[in-house]
Amino acid sequence: MHEFSIAQHIIEIALQTAKEHDVDQISSVEVEIGQAAGVVIEALEFAWESVVRDTPLQDAALTIKIIPVSVVCRTCGMNYSPRELLDLCPQCGDMNPEIIRGKELRVSAIVT
Ligand SMILES: [Zn+2]
Repeated sequence: MHEFSIAQHIIEIALQTAKEHDVDQISSVEVEIGQAAGVVIEALEFAWESVVRDTPLQDAALTIKIIPVSVVCRTCGMNYSPRELLDLCPQCGDMNPEIIRGKELRVSAIVT
């Protein structure tokens, strides 16, 4: 389950950032996750609960912001936001999308 390593990674970033800014209390960590990042949100929330235990982040909340997918059609150049990743291009009907947004996975804010 790679959500555990993602949770671990988020914690490392949060702790590192806290250290750099000389704070010892973090109340929440906000992450941005693209819809096409391949992360199962429920699994990440579950992993977070178990990974933060016995760390300075054990009382910190995890706030997840979902970034919608945006693609450009490789056939005709149309920009669109598919509801499903396998949606056809609304302009030419091809299924040849290149994902330009929606694969993000990053810590966007740390609230002390
Ligand atoms: Zn197209």
